[in-house]
Amino acid sequence: MKVDAAVNEYVRRGAEVAGVHGGLLEVLTSSYRELDVQLPIRCESGELLLCRGYRVQHNGARGPYKGGIRYHPSVNLPEMRAMASLMTWKSALVDVPFGGAKGGVAVDPDVLTEWDLQQITRKFAQHIHHVLGPYRDIPAPDVNTNAQTMAWFMDAYSDINGYTPAVVTGKPVSLGGAPGREQATGWGVVDVLAAYFEHHGDDVAGKRVAIQGFGNVGSWAAEKLGRIGATVVAVSDVYGGIHCADGLNIEALSRDVKEGASVGEVSQGELITNNELLGLTCDVVIPAALGEAITEKNVGRISAELVVEAANFPVTPEADAVLKDRGIPVIPDILANAGGVAGSYFEWTQNIQQFTWSEDRFGKELCARLNTATRTTLRRAEDAAVTMREAAFAIGVERVAEATRLRGYV
Ligand code: GLU
Repeated sequence: MKVDAAVNEYVRRGAEVAGVHGGLLEVLTSSYRELDVQLPIRCESGELLLCRGYRVQHNGARGPYKGGIRYHPSVNLPEMRAMASLMTWKSALVDVPFGGAKGGVAVDPDVLTEWDLQQITRKFAQHIHHVLGPYRDIPAPDVNTNAQTMAWFMDAYSDINGYTPAVVTGKPVSLGGAPGREQATGWGVVDVLAAYFEHHGDDVAGKRVAIQGFGNVGSWAAEKLGRIGATVVAVSDVYGGIHCADGLNIEALSRDVKEGASVGEVSQGELITNNELLGLTCDVVIPAALGEAITEKNVGRISAELVVEAANFPVTPEADAVLKDRGIPVIPDILANAGGVAGSYFEWTQNIQQFTWSEDRFGKELCARLNTATRTTLRRAEDAAVTMREAAFAIGVERVAEATRLRGYV
C-alpha cells in the first residue's frame, strides 16, 4: 500500500469512530493544494543539479497550513501528501490553531556542501513563496533540515515579502526562534510517555527504553528520559546502534555525535543492527527515525511492552494490526511527536506578538498541552474501546470536520 493510502486508512478508522462519512470524509482524505516545482541548482562544484521540490497543503480549516520541510532522496508527492495529512490531525489533537502541510526536496544532503544546501533552500522558498505566509502556510524543520535551513528560508522569503520571521518556525533563537523549540519534539515524546504511565498509575522513571534514531527527536528524547530517571538501553542511527543493558551514557553519546561521530563509532555498549534494536526486550521501544520502520516483515520481532511513534508514520497499518492482536499498545505519531508543532505554535505566537518567553515557560506550556492531549486520547480510547491511534484520529477528525463545516467549506 502506498504511504498516502495507508495514512488515509488510519484517517478512515478514526472517522468511523467519530461518525464522519460521505463527502466530508472525501474532503478530509484529499489535499487542498499540491505544489511540485523544478529546482535547478548551480552547485559549488559548478555542476547543475536538477531536483524537485514539493509542498502539499492538506487542510486549512483550523488555521494556516503548518508542517516541516525535509531533504531526503526518498521525498516524493505521495509521501508529502501523507505527511501533510498527519500534520492536520496532529495540530487538531494538540489543539493548536493550524492546518496541515508538508514539503520537501528530493535530494541527498550528505553529498552536498553547505553552500549548495543554501542555494536549494533559497530557490525552494522563491518558487513556493506565493502560497506561504504567517497566516497562510508556515514551514518548519523536519528530516535533514534545521534552524540554519529555516534562517535561509526566512531570509529568501523576506527578500520578496519584507521581513517576516513568523513565516517559518524552528528558527535560530537569535532570529526569532523560541528557546526550547529545538528540543520540543524529543522532550514532548517524553511528556506524552510520562502522562501515559501516570494515567495507568505507573511511572516513566525506571523504565528501560530503546530508541531507533538519534537525530533531533531521538537525542532530545534520550536526554530527557535520562534526566527523569528512565534507562536508555539502546540507540541507533542509519548505520546501526549500540546496546548496554545497564544504560548508555547519553550525555557522552550526544557530545560525540555532535562532534560528527556515528552512534556505532562511540565506544559504549555492544554494536547492534537497527532490526535488533527494534526487537530488544524492554519496556518501551521508540522508533524516532524515518517512516515505515515497523512493517509486516519485522513486526514479529517487537518484544517491548509499548511502542511510541516519535517518527512520522513509523508503523504501517499491516504491522499496526499485528501489534493490536498481540496486545502491544502503540502511542501514535500524531500524539507522540506533537511536541514539535506545539512548540512551533509557541514560537509563532511569540513572533506575531513580538514578545518572548523563557525556556522554562516554554517547557511547562508544552508539557501541559501534551498532558491534556494524552489524557483526552486515553479517555476516548477507553470509552469507545478502541486503540489510542483510533481515538487520536477520531478526535482530530472531529475537530477538523467541525471547523470545515462551520466555515461553510462543504
Ligand atoms: N516537522 C515536525 C513534525 O513533523 C514539526 C512541524 C511543525 O512544527 O510545523 O511534526
